[in-house]
Order: sequence, then C-alpha cells, then structure tokens
Amino acid sequence: MIKNFINGKWIASESKESVSIPNPATGVEIERCPLGTANELDQAVQAAKEAFLAWRKTPTVDRVQYLFKLKVLLEENFEELAKLVTTEHGKTLVEARGSVRRGIQMVETACGMPTLLMGEHFEDIAPGIDCKAINRPMGVFGVIAPFNFPAMVPFWFWPFGVAAGNTIVIKPSERVPLTQVKVFELIEKAGFPKGVVNMVHGGKDIVNAMCTHPDVKGVSFVGSTPVAKHVYVTGTSHGKRVQALGGAKNFMVVLPDAELDKAAATAYESITGCAGERCLAGSVIISVGKDTAKKIEDLVVMRAKETTVGNGLDPNVGMGPVISQEAKNRIKGMIQTAIDEGAKLLVDGREGVDQMPGYFLKTTVLSGIKPHMKIAQEEVFGPVVLLSEAASLEESIVWINSSPFANTTTLFTTSGAAARKFSYEVDPSMIGINIGVPAPMSFFSFGGSKDSFFGDVKAHGNACVTFYTDTKVTVERWGSNASIWSAGHGK
Ligand code: NAD
Repeated sequence: MIKNFINGKWIASESKESVSIPNPATGVEIERCPLGTANELDQAVQAAKEAFLAWRKTPTVDRVQYLFKLKVLLEENFEELAKLVTTEHGKTLVEARGSVRRGIQMVETACGMPTLLMGEHFEDIAPGIDCKAINRPMGVFGVIAPFNFPAMVPFWFWPFGVAAGNTIVIKPSERVPLTQVKVFELIEKAGFPKGVVNMVHGGKDIVNAMCTHPDVKGVSFVGSTPVAKHVYVTGTSHGKRVQALGGAKNFMVVLPDAELDKAAATAYESITGCAGERCLAGSVIISVGKDTAKKIEDLVVMRAKETTVGNGLDPNVGMGPVISQEAKNRIKGMIQTAIDEGAKLLVDGREGVDQMPGYFLKTTVLSGIKPHMKIAQEEVFGPVVLLSEAASLEESIVWINSSPFANTTTLFTTSGAAARKFSYEVDPSMIGINIGVPAPMSFFSFGGSKDSFFGDVKAHGNACVTFYTDTKVTVERWGSNASIWSAGHGK
C-alpha cells in the first residue's frame, strides 16, 4: 500500500478503504492506493500552513534552488519515471518520455520565478507620491490530478506555486499514483523544507475536503467536465481561487489545399496517441469537399490497419491499452451507439482484442459522422477516429462552435488567409495550424474555454503569477523633510 507524504514524512493512511492499481497492459495488480480521509487532508493542510510561515519569507532566489536540485534529480531518474508512467497508465514509452519531458520543462520555467514575480513601481503618480505593486504568496494551494498524465499534470501547477512562495498539497489520481510517489521521493531528496510540498492519496473525499477547507486558498483541478464544474462551484463558494480544466471534444478540419499525407498522419497520431486518452486528442476529422474526404479516409484506414497494439514498454508497439476494463466497455458502447445512429464502420478496433490480457482496443474508424450523433458530441477518450465531411470552412467552424467544449481545434491548410480566419473565428482556446496536439509549452498559458475550463486564470505561463499571488499595492508619500540627510545637516 502506498503512503502519503505529509510534513516531510512518509505516513501510512489511516483509511481502511483502498483501490487496486492494475497494469492496464496485463490486468495484474501492481499496488494499492488508499482512499484517504478528510482528516488526513487536514493534517497535510496544517503542515503546509505551518511551513508557509518560513517559506514565504525565504527569498525567491533561494526557493528556486530546490527546484534546480529537483530538475537534476528528475533528469537522473528520467527513464525510471517514464517506465512508471507506462506501467501504471499504459501509454507507450515514447509517449511517456514526452510527458516526463514536459513536466521537467515546467520545473525549468518555474526556476525563473525571480523574474516572473517582479512587481511594478511608478514614481509621481501625483506630486511627491509613488506607488508600488508587489506579488505576494497567499498560503496553501491544492492540486488535483487526472489519470491520463501521471507525471506531467501536477507539474503544471505546483512548481510555480512553491516558487512564488506558497505551500502545496497534491492529490494524484487514485488510478495512477505511482509516478507521483517516485516524484515525491525526488522532492524529498531535493531537500524542500518539511511541509512545503505534501501528497495525500484518495478520491472524492479528499477532493471535497480540499475544496471546503478553510485554510486552502486555491485549487487547481484537471479532470472530467462534471467534476471540474463541481470543484469550481464548491471551491469558489468556499472563497477559493479555482482553475478547473475539464473534458474536451476536439475537431480537426482538413482543407483541400492541405498536404494531405501529412494532415492524415498528424490527425491520426493526435487521435490515437496515448490510446486517445489525451485532453488535446483530436476526435472528429472534418474534410472539406468529397475528394478531400475520400483521400483522408483512405490514408487513415491504412494507418489504422497498420497500428500494432500491445504493452507500451515494447518498442515495437504503436499503441498501448486504455486505462481499465470499464473504459474499454464504455468506448465499445459509444462505437456501437454511433453505428446504430448511422455511422459507417470502416475499421473495427473491437475485434481481436478480447483474448489479449489487459484492456486493449485497436483503432476504430467510423465515417459519415453527423453533428447530432452522440459520438460527435461527447468525449470518447479512446482510439476512435471519426470521419466527416463539410461543404466549406465556414460550415466546419459553425460545427466546432456549436460544441459545448472548447479545448483545442486544428486546421490543416497551406493558406495563411484560411488559417487566420479559422484562428479568429473558432471558440477553442488552443489552436493548431497543421499541428495535431497544439499543447502550449510551459512558458505559455494552458487551458480551454466553455465546458473545457472553469475559472478565470489558466495554467502555467505568465498566468501562474496571477493565480498564485495576491497583488499588494502601496501608495507612498514621504513629504519633504529629508533635511537630516541633506548637505549642511548638523551645522
Ligand atoms: P475524473 O474527473 O474522473 O478525475 C479527476 C480527479 O477528480 C481525480 O483525482 C479523481 O479522484 C477526482 N474525482 C473523480 N470523481 C470525483 C467526484 N465525483 N467528486 C470529486 N472528485 C472526483 O477524470 P479522469 O478520468 O481522471 O481524467 C480524464 C478527464 O480529464 C478527461 O475528461 C480529460 O479530457 C480530462 N483532462 C483534461 C485536461 C485539460 O487540460 N483540460 C487534461 C487532462 C485530462
């Protein structure tokens, strides 16, 4: 049974409840995760609150030294972390390595906090009066993570929070907590003062306790839309800052002038990479015009038939399993509903997988997708390519903007004018032009809009300072009595 990390110590959970953590490629249990209690969350918050008193007074240049040490340790343990991600989540090692790299980049960017945190100063806002604004840390912040990026997602938040002078309590996903256990061993080795970064394992009881705890100043959440909404409503009604990143339905439009081979390859990889368990995964490919649709269909079907599934640790495998039997059943159900609603089954990824151990699905390709179909409206979070056709770019944009989700969208084209029109008119906040997974780097802000994001301030980038600090403004007038320091004083 894995342990919590509270006040610099590894502590066994007091909870009697736990969940199994199977390797999704084999179905065999590798560990168990306790479902912690509100009392344990409180212990972590109290430790973080106590640690905040000294941490906030620690100069920022000294605070980031711990992150520099952590960065070195993360590099030294890079391969082990990637293997852990593959083992508990299932994604291929190449994908796992990419996600660990993204996590490390967050730490690197947070090391620049001395520059990011700088305030503003204005002389003579009125005669003899000056004004300064400083960004001050606020206290204890919480981080709640989803299952699909066990290493990366917590790094979107906490390094920025602690570099800015706050202290943190992290709740990893109870389905994939093992990578975070390793990260915390490295946090311990880096020598962060006790209580600055804490981890409590569990499920919704910890989430609810975090959103209502009087000493938690803010919560960063990543997960499905219904829970994101719940966290936002609960957290804000308890006076907290909340940034809640939710689910997605990402559309990709292919114009006839696009480089179709590249567009098909990029769109296919976006949809099926990480077995589709990616919030930026494409879902519906809308080809403009019949000819484009036919060419994209042929190219995608060819790729789907070529993709090999298996254990992500095997370098010859193109796609790993989905997270659980429950997820597999849900995705199979969505495929069947789409067929019942009139979609055409071109490649059936449900075939030839049930005799495999673990929770595998091959790529499914469905064509004839229409906006009213359930599968066109809901997040699949699995390896299902949905093909559709539109008469024009305008028609595609209307469809994209009719979705309640607005995380990301992509246009494949060689026309700058079309690209500009698309970027200008679509609702989603993260846009790809000939890019299938347009994930903003650590020094840009990350997050969608509409039902994909609840809050005002997005993750990482410059937004991290806004989220993790209170701006304190001092207006100063010192009068004119500087005589004791003037020439001639004392005569
Ligand atoms: P989830 O909502 O089931 O779980 C997320 C977190 O919430 C977990 O830590 C879990 O313990 C907790 N939780 C689950 N049910 C809860 C409840 N009823 N009350 C309180 N807390 C609860 O999400 P998931 O299945 O782990 O992750 C997949 C989802 O996350 C997808 O919808 C995906 O699009 C989304 N996601 C979004 C982004 C983004 O940037 N927008 C990034 C990654 C994942």
